Amino acid sequence: MPAAVRDVPGAGGVRESNAAAVLGAIRTDGPLSRAAIARLTGLSMPTVSRQVAALAELELLREVPGLPATREVGRPTVPVDLNDDVIAACGVHIGITTTTYGLTNLRGGLLGSERIATPSGEPEKVLGAIADEVGAFLRSWPERKIIGVGLAIGGQVDAEHGLLHHGPLGWRGVPARAVLEGVTGLPVHLDGHVPAMATAELLFGAAGRAQSSLYFYAREMVGVAIAVDGVLHRGPGQSGSIAHLPVGGDVRCACGRTGCLEATVAERAVVERAVRAGVIAAPDFGLLRGAAAAGDQDADRILTERARALGRAVGILRDVVNPELVVLGGQAVTDAPAYLGDLLGAFRETTALPGTDLVEVTQFGPDVQAMAACTGLLTQLYDHPLSILGA
Ligand SMILES: [Zn+2]
Repeated sequence: MPAAVRDVPGAGGVRESNAAAVLGAIRTDGPLSRAAIARLTGLSMPTVSRQVAALAELELLREVPGLPATREVGRPTVPVDLNDDVIAACGVHIGITTTTYGLTNLRGGLLGSERIATPSGEPEKVLGAIADEVGAFLRSWPERKIIGVGLAIGGQVDAEHGLLHHGPLGWRGVPARAVLEGVTGLPVHLDGHVPAMATAELLFGAAGRAQSSLYFYAREMVGVAIAVDGVLHRGPGQSGSIAHLPVGGDVRCACGRTGCLEATVAERAVVERAVRAGVIAAPDFGLLRGAAAAGDQDADRILTERARALGRAVGILRDVVNPELVVLGGQAVTDAPAYLGDLLGAFRETTALPGTDLVEVTQFGPDVQAMAACTGLLTQLYDHPLSILGA
């Protein structure tokens, strides 16, 4: 079994950081010859060869004989690349209504996933039931070496103590890590779902190549995560909140003020307003989208206003943080491509800093939650490959 990932015994040291440098170069630029790895990492050829051999032994790397061998310093060399066929990580996302779990390879590619209705009842029983499903799912991948289970969830995550607090689910201090570890026998890594998705952007998306980035998420809730030099900022105890960011408008928030971001753009809040305005008959976001697509001007106006509120929020946050790159994620953006122009228009009107060509939409599709849940584990693996795999 892999070492417990939360305290990575023996982590650190020159050997570990050399291995991580080699693995990182191949992850971002592979396949590479050993000489190219040496150039990119600044390590000596003997060190690179030793690390490549160690990482191949751990089945993280392999030679790619299918590619034409390059000729380096007199003799042909076979390039090395990540080994996609062995190591995998499991990701579980518990949502208020739906729980999704899946298995990804080293590149974050989803090998398979399943979804179930989130069970109701006592939190520990709910987690036990989810863990049983995940365990059965993992048993269908006997050929894979699974490094652990990443669990991502909204609400507050106490990763240090393995506890979850989730208001809408009624969970307070639920010992999620202990329950999941007990059932699956694998190390479990907890994270908030917005930080998990931002980590996915760092590892496998455009944010990985930016020196600083801001990840902006909106669907039923809104969230933001900031990364500098490839590292996600994590504040004391919890992530920051943009739920009550004032974006204008006359929508009343439960906090007593008007114009708070989450109350203005949350899916449920938007459809409830549409129902009250007589635009749609039932609180169903698909109905609202369908009405707008069919030419209903009131439905279109509601969705335009939502996009513009999102754009104003992105503009304010951009000016506060001044990142090199902003990545937009969440279904409020990815399910509404027709309104991206409105969002970006409001962003450009709001931001006061020079340059507005820094906003991108995530490249990840609807499977992002399960994939993102395991990126915390994959980050640890890329940072400490030898100790995570017990070498
Ligand atoms: Zn508020």
